[in-house]
Amino acid sequence: MTIRLLPNTTANRIAAGEVVERPAAVVKELVENALDAGARRIRVALEDGGIGRVLVEDDGCGIPPAELELAVERHATSKLPEEAMLFAIGTLGFRGEALPSIGAVARLTLTSRIAGGEAHAIAVEGGRKSAVQPASGAPGTRVEVLDLFFATPARRKFLRTPRAEADAALDALRRLALAWPEVGFEASLDGRRVLNLDPASREGRIRDLLGADFAAASLPVRAAVGTLSIEGLAGGPAFTRATAAEQHLVVNRRPVRDPLLRAALRVAYREVMMPGRHPVAALFLELPPGEVDVNVHPMKTELRFREGNAVRGAVISALRRALGQGVGEASPASMGYAGPARLSFSVPPPAPRGFSEAPLPLGFAPPRPMEAPSVAAPVPEDHPLGRALAQVLDTYILAEAPDGALILVDQHAAHERLTHERLAEEVKSGGVRTQALLLPAVVEMPRAHRLAEAAPELAKLGLELEGFGPGAVLVRAMPALLGNPDPAPLLRDMAEELEENGEGLALAMRLDAAIARLACHGSIRAGRRLTTAEMDALLRAMERTPRAATCSHGRPTFLKFGQAEFARLFGRS
Ligand code: ADP
Ligand code: MG
Repeated sequence: MTIRLLPNTTANRIAAGEVVERPAAVVKELVENALDAGARRIRVALEDGGIGRVLVEDDGCGIPPAELELAVERHATSKLPEEAMLFAIGTLGFRGEALPSIGAVARLTLTSRIAGGEAHAIAVEGGRKSAVQPASGAPGTRVEVLDLFFATPARRKFLRTPRAEADAALDALRRLALAWPEVGFEASLDGRRVLNLDPASREGRIRDLLGADFAAASLPVRAAVGTLSIEGLAGGPAFTRATAAEQHLVVNRRPVRDPLLRAALRVAYREVMMPGRHPVAALFLELPPGEVDVNVHPMKTELRFREGNAVRGAVISALRRALGQGVGEASPASMGYAGPARLSFSVPPPAPRGFSEAPLPLGFAPPRPMEAPSVAAPVPEDHPLGRALAQVLDTYILAEAPDGALILVDQHAAHERLTHERLAEEVKSGGVRTQALLLPAVVEMPRAHRLAEAAPELAKLGLELEGFGPGAVLVRAMPALLGNPDPAPLLRDMAEELEENGEGLALAMRLDAAIARLACHGSIRAGRRLTTAEMDALLRAMERTPRAATCSHGRPTFLKFGQAEFARLFGRS
């Protein structure tokens, strides 16, 4: 075999596979170039999900005509003055790969004009460069990319629907916009304006992108450890999502999806968030460029910290401090969360006679003296889950079974299962009872169109809504079973889930996932105090419900401790 150098076009097409795997990557690379060029305003237009056309215009420094040809050459970059700088990178780009890669697999036109100069343009189609020619255009740079992957049809097959590609591209843009609040961003999709962000403060931009309700429900994070600074907003424990999609992590102004930082978030929230739920956060880390290697991933969305463990530890403790403080001071009830280690027993009243002579020497003081349940009549045999004795930690129901065993019920999980079963039953029989909202609610959110598209399916579940402009839905009715939950968090979760398991999933499974989501939001939360009557009602309903022993997520809804378990726990057997 002979060793040959790859022809330039082939090399570029291979590199393109890593750098521009989909329209979102094209948008990311071009917008990063605009940011590196000092742009104050960046305009992005997408057509056909960006597969047909991506246009990025900026008002940055521009490229001199003499350098246009070099700009589209592989490994040509203006951003690495010296070799030594490779480990201390202050710009978003530095590999000199984006423009040649895009030019290798699409039709690229680069038009640029520097201050006081004339505009010039160069085109690259499937790797073939045209000559530089005079053009017209405002100061700054305009890059148009047509027919992505026309030159590599095999790659085109890996693209998802235009809708999904557009979503991913807009998501990439939103992440960059969050990291660069002083820059204005505009975006349109098939001619329709979908984003318009004026230059703002960091807080203002967070509010613009993550919503005022997030800003209101979040806690400030601020920490400095050595040369590392961490700032931002962390959502309160009650502000949860079905996926980690709204965790925005920015390191030295570069949006990343770094596993180390994601794990830090997970750990920090572990004790205050239900399993399966994800926090929302916008965190900005700054550290000297030499402390972090951004060149470990072709798309530069992951990085390597020199002191990974220290960074992880600092992020966890900064978050914990923010969560601890905020939760301790703000009203815990309003946050739907009872604090990390608050141990409390609430015993159903009335209970005049007690065994509460002295505080229990357990190292904690119950908020009120422990009181015995009022009655001691035998537990009816036909109630296998028994009689409610007390609520523990505002989350679990303690009950006594007819055979004397102790039952511990997870109130949220149990209620969720009941709601799920009933809703599924109603859906099956074709008659979900709906409850019209007094006033139709407008819920603004990213990915609102996902819900609008699924409206006919959702109507079968008793959820009546329709699209309301580009970023909102109008809700008219909800399933009556749910009581009166706030539609906003429910709908956001559903939209995210539709986005995530989207088109691929069979209708029946999507319905089932939607039922589970409805049930989760329509159910009593952990942390809500229940009366004895409510607890007993829940136990009775569980006894009547098939599959009541596990919640919709497969976790058990109750545990039973009888003779044998106690003996084992105490080491008697
Ligand atoms: P990189 O960004 O890694 O340097 P690119 O292929 O993305 O590589 O861009 C090559 C060069 O073209 C950049 O280094 C920069 O000099 C120039 N360039 C690209 N886009 C712009 C822009 N929007 N404004 C000014 N210069 C640009
Ligand atoms: Mg670049």
